Amino acid sequence: MNPFAWFDQRQVGGFRLWDFGRRSLGREYGWVFLWHAVMRHPVQFARGLRQYRRLIKSGLAGREVYAHGEGLKWGRGAETIVGVGFCLKPIDPPCPSGRANHDCQYFEQRLHRAGGRMAAGCARCKIRQHGLEALSQGCHFYIMTSALDIWRDLFLPALQDRRFRRGVFALCRYSFDPFLLPLLMANMEYALIPFASGDCRDYETWLQADVGIKDTQTVMADHHLAMFQQRLGPPGGGSPPPFGFRKIGNVFAPAPSD
Ligand code: SF4
Repeated sequence: MNPFAWFDQRQVGGFRLWDFGRRSLGREYGWVFLWHAVMRHPVQFARGLRQYRRLIKSGLAGREVYAHGEGLKWGRGAETIVGVGFCLKPIDPPCPSGRANHDCQYFEQRLHRAGGRMAAGCARCKIRQHGLEALSQGCHFYIMTSALDIWRDLFLPALQDRRFRRGVFALCRYSFDPFLLPLLMANMEYALIPFASGDCRDYETWLQADVGIKDTQTVMADHHLAMFQQRLGPPGGGSPPPFGFRKIGNVFAPAPSD
């Protein structure tokens, strides 16, 4: 075992990002994070790091779901963003929008409206389900791809102008710690919900997925899918109410009903 992985295992210094941090220094997202987060927002970085270490020391790493505040309880409204990994997109039959991108033909072509005819891949797609839950509750919705895009589309606006104050995210367990630090820097409430299978479990597979190479279909456990539904689905179940949205950059943003 390399010494940095050993540090992570022992949580040396209340930190579980030794190995990820070391490997990230040679990558563009690592330098962008260093520049934007550490150099340009040192106060938020120091606060986020303090909270992160406190959480790790309190035993957070052993929990199935990372959650703090309203992110886990109730997540409606435009200050909430719901983010899902692109690897939830179906492979067979495939997503008509392609895989490693922020696109969803189903929403972009407004196929959620009555009578819209969806592709075979969309019928059982969990991204469609979570998008309906999020957008019908007036939340932002984001199909997450690379670390760099997530930094630019999600963390930077949250950090700089508090655009997002709560987030509910479906992602691989391996990404929890690198994801948590910027969430804490941005002072967001959050729920990080893991994939049950098909997910990245080490740096090598994570890095491949970060450049869009991901041939396995991620799947969420039923009780975690229910978590999304409870937080974002229409009260009492049933069909979502009419809703509007537009895509701004890579993010689907709530808008007056269209
Ligand atoms: S609903 Fe799923 S399969 Fe259909 S376009 Fe959107 S992401 Fe792709």
